[in-house]
Amino acid sequence: MENFDADVIIVGGGLVGSALALALKETNLSVLLIEGRRPVFEWQQDSWDQRIYAISRASGKMLKRIGAWQRMDADRLQATSAMEIFGDAHGTALQFNALEAGVDELAFMLENRELQKALWCGLQEEKQIRILSPASPVRLVTDQTGATLTLADGQTLRARLVVGADGANSWVRSQLAIEPQVMPYQQFGVVANFEIEKPHLGVAHQWFMSDGILAWLPLAGHRMSMVWSCNDKERAELMALSPEKLCEYVVAAGGARLGALQLITAPAAFPLRLNHLPETVRDKVVLIGDAAHTVHPLAGQGVNLGFGDVIELAALLTNTPVKQIGDYLLLRRYERSRREAVYTMQGVCHGLQKLFNNSNPLLKNLRNLGLGATNQLPWLKRQLIRHAMDA
Ligand SMILES: Cc1cc2nc3c(=O)[nH]c(=O)nc-3n(C[C@H](O)[C@H](O)[C@H](O)COP(=O)(O)OP(=O)(O)OC[C@H]3O[C@@H](n4cnc5c(N)ncnc54)[C@H](O)[C@@H]3O)c2cc1C
Repeated sequence: MENFDADVIIVGGGLVGSALALALKETNLSVLLIEGRRPVFEWQQDSWDQRIYAISRASGKMLKRIGAWQRMDADRLQATSAMEIFGDAHGTALQFNALEAGVDELAFMLENRELQKALWCGLQEEKQIRILSPASPVRLVTDQTGATLTLADGQTLRARLVVGADGANSWVRSQLAIEPQVMPYQQFGVVANFEIEKPHLGVAHQWFMSDGILAWLPLAGHRMSMVWSCNDKERAELMALSPEKLCEYVVAAGGARLGALQLITAPAAFPLRLNHLPETVRDKVVLIGDAAHTVHPLAGQGVNLGFGDVIELAALLTNTPVKQIGDYLLLRRYERSRREAVYTMQGVCHGLQKLFNNSNPLLKNLRNLGLGATNQLPWLKRQLIRHAMDA
């Protein structure tokens, strides 16, 4: 019988890769997680991570099941109870709230590092999970029974299945010669956190403007997190502002809805692009998370799509005899099961971005009419909320 170093090797220990490793603790599979950069889990308690996520209810449920949710500091989690969306014509608004959808909250806002730490602490307690970090693979070869990874230090590792969870510039994907169709948005996501003067009451705000999309997301306590998707010129302007001027600028852009602001986390900018892959599996290899798809952050669904991959793949591997976990036909089943959710989310985000990032006056009327009309249709709003919550 052939010896494997692990049944499953996961390359990439970001949120998605580490969540999959932890989800597989419910199986008998042995797991080896390879992460290039060992995360640092020490920070000043009064500081806030730049990267804030809106975690959907479906993702939250999965994180609870694998024990990561319970490890996070409850005082740093914030429920979002409502969302107000504004168009670029005066008075057009669309409101969603949890009560209308018959739930306690629409999503939870949390810090990337808090969740990453919770996941890694969980991993370190599981005997069947080994972590190699820092470590990077340099070669991937597959054959009939499994896959062999060679690491930069010369070590070779063999598994029945290799999972590429190594992010938007995936090395695993490049080894498979899968070329993503990349649609750069010519936009950046500028993120920053602020202390606020007026209580946010758990309400998220989003403004669709002709030259960008501004989101204010409620953070625990008197704080909010900003994601401003804007063009390169505006990015440069925002990043060059002093903290005081940036606050004034952001207050003005959001109509001072939360009163005065004070910067608590320095701004950072990320290039935005859509990665669409013609295929996400090969015999003995599967891609998940940002390695398999990226979306515009306007709906805050990137990591939720990745967690959707985790839920589906873990369920499939749980119900499969260990010898078959790398079989192409099985992995194709996984690929098909994720296709609709991924394409729909990519399509909706892409369509909205294009609809608003357009100076055609006819489109301007149409998009604002659309927002106003949707607001008058409770059943449509319920459908949209359900879709985002369960994503
Ligand atoms: C501005 C902005 C705002 C966003 N806001 C939201 C939001 O509100 N909600 C949301 O759901 N999503 C959001 N996203 C998207 C979200 O950040 C990503 O979808 C998510 O981080 C993807 O997780 P991942 O684990 O797949 O990839 P990553 O987070 O990129 O993790 C990949 C991991 O693999 C490791 N790695 C890479 N290459 C190798 C290698 N060769 N060997 C070993 N290890 C390797 C990396 O070190 C890293 O740890 C946002 C994105 C942007 C840009």
